[in-house]
Amino acid sequence: MNILVLNCGSSSLKFQIIDTDLEKIEKNEDRELARGLIERIGSEALISLKVEGKSTIKTTAAIRDHKAAIQYIIKWVTSPDTGIPGINSLEDIHAIGHRTVHGGEEFKSSVRIDNDVIAKMEDNIELAPLHNPANLKGIYAAREVFGPSVPQVAIFDTAFHSTMPETAYLYAIPYQYYRRYKIRKYGFHGTSHRYIAYRYRVLTGKTKNDTNIITLHLGNGSSACAIKHGKSIDTSMGFTPLEGLMMGTRCGDIDPTIIDFLHHKEGSSIDEIFNMLNKRSGLLGISGLTNDMRDLEVEITEHQDRRAQLAIDMFCARIVKYVGAYLTAMNGADAICFSAGIGENAPDVRAKVCEHLEFLGVKLDKKLNNKMIRGKEGVISTPDSKLQVFVIPTNEELVIARDTCRVVLNAPLP
Ligand code: AMP
Repeated sequence: MNILVLNCGSSSLKFQIIDTDLEKIEKNEDRELARGLIERIGSEALISLKVEGKSTIKTTAAIRDHKAAIQYIIKWVTSPDTGIPGINSLEDIHAIGHRTVHGGEEFKSSVRIDNDVIAKMEDNIELAPLHNPANLKGIYAAREVFGPSVPQVAIFDTAFHSTMPETAYLYAIPYQYYRRYKIRKYGFHGTSHRYIAYRYRVLTGKTKNDTNIITLHLGNGSSACAIKHGKSIDTSMGFTPLEGLMMGTRCGDIDPTIIDFLHHKEGSSIDEIFNMLNKRSGLLGISGLTNDMRDLEVEITEHQDRRAQLAIDMFCARIVKYVGAYLTAMNGADAICFSAGIGENAPDVRAKVCEHLEFLGVKLDKKLNNKMIRGKEGVISTPDSKLQVFVIPTNEELVIARDTCRVVLNAPLP
């Protein structure tokens, strides 16, 4: 079954085409046939496309909207010159899986998209005003291009965290705000945390019930997740993705009083302050230079930049605090798993985090740690380390493709 995986932003569209079915899932034989990114939809778009066995093509084209973006992809992958052998027309795409950010309290697992699901997603727009409208654009566009008979499935970023207990998801504000407006922690990056937990099970042979780990998705957006008996029991992002760890441009945890204080001191509006907390804080805000971990590392090596170093130290210190808190909340864990751009590629960050955990018996194998980059997967702790440490490259698209396949075939979801 050829599945088109779509991740739609307001002016961007990321996609993969993955060939999978129940047997391929079982044998881990799913195949990525193509992937790509279209940015700046609405004007002269930047396009990057990679078809299996061919080199990456970078080009530009006028792309009006998400529908035109999907049509562009289909034209590319079905063309005899540029495309995928065996995919000759629209009919060769059998289902579409959408990365969908906010499922609210309604969606605890992936679902086939129908009018009722769309209506509920529209109700949730106020919970995710930046993301859900873009996801819906992708759903409408795919319906127009493929027609109503091609099944579409929504995979929610919040769903994996729907197992959190009340004690973790409620904020200590008057309870009526939860009842009235559903103000609570939802958590995000759930598809990634779920994939990391799945790979941990594959690598260790453990059952779901025996999976007690802390997963660290450290990218431009970052979050930690406490996974007990295979289920999320707490995560660092909250009502929105602003809470928790320090990120590329997001502040993570702060005292909410700062917002009121800044409003009075600087005369900034609430919107301006939230823009600053979302877009000008985190690694960028502290370093004053960049949100990119690679560039910060260069600034330190080449210019001994103090604030670049401070930004990385703070980033690591926050991670350590969350790991410590989660280890206690879980009554101990068996492993810590690093993932996403920074977690997969920055051995110095991993070493700094693990150094703080030495008192717990965490021992990193320095050689393994330095080698485990650029998509490599495996253990980076020594055999006598009390907690194992893993690097597990995330693959949200694979989870989306597999869930889409299972939902379409009415097979049970894991
Ligand atoms: P993501 O959001 O998962 O794509 O991750 C983006 C982050 O990963 C950025 O801060 C990048 O600088 C960081 N990153 C990617 N490659 C490396 C690398 N080789 N060393 C350090 N950080 C990296």
